[in-house]
Amino acid sequence: GATVGIVGGGQLGRMLALAAARFGYRIAVLDPDPGCPAAQVASTMIVGPYGDGALLAQLASVSDVVSYEFENVAVEPLRKALGDTVLSPPAEALEVSQDRVVEKAFLNGIGIATAEWRAIDAPDELGHALLDLGGDCILKTRRFGYDGKGQARINAKSTFTDAFESIGKAPAILEKMVPFAFEISVIAARGRDGAIVAYDPAENVHTLGILKSSTVPGRVTGELARAAREIAGRILSHLDYVGVIGIEFFVGKDGALFVNEIAPRVHNSGHWTEAACLASQFENHVRAIAGLPLASPERHFDCVMDNLIGDDVERFDDLVAAPRSVVHLYGKSEVRRGRKMGHVTRVTPLSSGA
Ligand code: ATP
Ligand code: MG
Ligand code: MG
Repeated sequence: GATVGIVGGGQLGRMLALAAARFGYRIAVLDPDPGCPAAQVASTMIVGPYGDGALLAQLASVSDVVSYEFENVAVEPLRKALGDTVLSPPAEALEVSQDRVVEKAFLNGIGIATAEWRAIDAPDELGHALLDLGGDCILKTRRFGYDGKGQARINAKSTFTDAFESIGKAPAILEKMVPFAFEISVIAARGRDGAIVAYDPAENVHTLGILKSSTVPGRVTGELARAAREIAGRILSHLDYVGVIGIEFFVGKDGALFVNEIAPRVHNSGHWTEAACLASQFENHVRAIAGLPLASPERHFDCVMDNLIGDDVERFDDLVAAPRSVVHLYGKSEVRRGRKMGHVTRVTPLSSGA
């Protein structure tokens, strides 16, 4: 059978590997940690840094297709290492999504609204940009941020140098805070033949920058879902994308949509698909990158997915005993504050919803 190579062996890599195994594919994983979540599932573990050219070449040489579970892979070493092996999603999707300035310029360039923003390369640019945008803003590192790390909220009363220092003095972006009513995301997939499917949008709640829960349909109306799907389709087509993408949106009080960020991979806010759909986001990612037909994203339940963060996982005995719940743990032995340990999806009968 074919071998699927995955850069990164965290929980997303693990769940991709589980889905690939169900089609009889072998899985090769590159991760610095030999005990990473995906190691329990992988057929082959290649242990070392994600950016190591020789290890990436080894991954490519044993794989029929290479994919990744996170967007911070260094693009150049990966490109050089690939040889004849296909990378899906394509390198361009990595380049766009791993730098918040490139990402917002790309989105605005294809007519998609985002928070207003200014690139900040040095702390002395901050004062002017803040006046220019006006009101409350959020300073973020351009690269390598996740789970709200590398971000500082600021307004005209803050000391800019503190904000810049708190994010590590890295090249940054200043975004105007969007006074959103709520947040949603769309998980969509594009196949090798260009076919696109999109799951129903989820309403997401974040606490301290980390996804707490995803509810479907939540407050998403049919009209909002159509608009969000249209944006997702536009992004996928422009990137000539193959695989699953996660797109985070702010919904304004008037229902206007702003894209917050795009993740060129399976996404935490799509974990509910394993409980409420016949084919999960993980299966559709595997189908897309393996050149199989995409499966229907049809949803058969309403649901709420809760992340199990840190010692939330101690509720396991109760959660696993609860009816109509699907519990999924990531096999991480060490519980740490703010660490994603697993998730649980509770389903209820389908309402009319989106
Ligand atoms: P992820 O783990 O999703 O990659 P991240 O570290 O890239 O997270 P963002 O998605 O940029 O972080 O921001 C995290 C959360 O902070 C958002 O979901 C939203 O709740 C809030 N937030 C970020 N930027 C803005 C903004 N411009 N206006 C309003 N809220 C914002
Ligand atoms: Mg992000
Ligand atoms: Mg985010």
